[in-house]
Amino acid sequence: MSIISVENLTKEFGTRKAVDNISFNLAKGEILGLLGPNGAGKTTTMRMLMGLSKPSSGNIRLFGLDLNKNLKKIHPRIGVAFEKPNLFENLSGYQNLAIYCKLYQKPTSAIKPLLERMELADRANDPVKVYSKGMKQRILILRALIHEPELLFLDEPASGLDPVSSRIIWDYLKEQQQKGISIVLTSHDMEEVDELCNRIGFINHGRLIALAEPYVLKEKYGEKTLKVVYQDSSSIKEEVLSPTPEHFQYLQTLYQKKRVLSVHSQEATLGDIFRILSSQEN
Ligand code: ATP
Repeated sequence: MSIISVENLTKEFGTRKAVDNISFNLAKGEILGLLGPNGAGKTTTMRMLMGLSKPSSGNIRLFGLDLNKNLKKIHPRIGVAFEKPNLFENLSGYQNLAIYCKLYQKPTSAIKPLLERMELADRANDPVKVYSKGMKQRILILRALIHEPELLFLDEPASGLDPVSSRIIWDYLKEQQQKGISIVLTSHDMEEVDELCNRIGFINHGRLIALAEPYVLKEKYGEKTLKVVYQDSSSIKEEVLSPTPEHFQYLQTLYQKKRVLSVHSQEATLGDIFRILSSQEN
């Protein structure tokens, strides 16, 4: 059974189709990244998946249940860290999590190990208002998981954070995935998407124009290139060559002149794929 099953999902705002006939499934323990340019329809799609906005047409099933008819049953099974952080700024990180423990009738004894795991134990009693962006984001993610949901919706989990905070969050999310939690996230951070996502759904002008594993997208839309570093008459130069007969001929000439210092093959990056897919006409 799919954790999420979406069929022909459409959302219209007046005459504009913000989401246009999207269908996909999400398996248990899968991390799906929704990507696309600003205004593509990612947030609108996520809001419908979370039950915050009604589709104009189409069906959404979460855990095999019709979302529209089972909101009360479904909501305790999902966790959300989406859009604006809404922490209690005057309360500590610990207190912010304790409120949610009480709300969901979970023991507060769970909080300390969680704060330790996210490397926040020494700041647990400081008010959130003095936390860095990365620390607040870690609390938000812990809070979304405090009631042990099976499905998590995340908006840019670690975008704009320093590499240490990003790594802590990414590793934590991968641990949750190992436990069988499924995740849908949006992100403009291609490193984050490459690190976390099993599949990528690329949305443009409201339509899901690609849905596949990152390596499949790279093979389909990207082109392997060769980066060659060589000694010119007085300086060291670098060029990126495509796998064409002309470029291989050129590389051979450089070899014959004994000028090549190094050659590395480069895979297309998700950033390259993003640019290619964003520029595709509808
Ligand atoms: P971003 O990457 O900038 O967050 P996005 O992919 O999440 O963009 P959406 O926020 O889903 O894009 O917006 C999709 C389209 O729907 C945009 O044209 C947006 O202006 C429009 N839109 C979103 N919400 C509303 C609304 N409440 N009323 C009217 N139009 C809306």
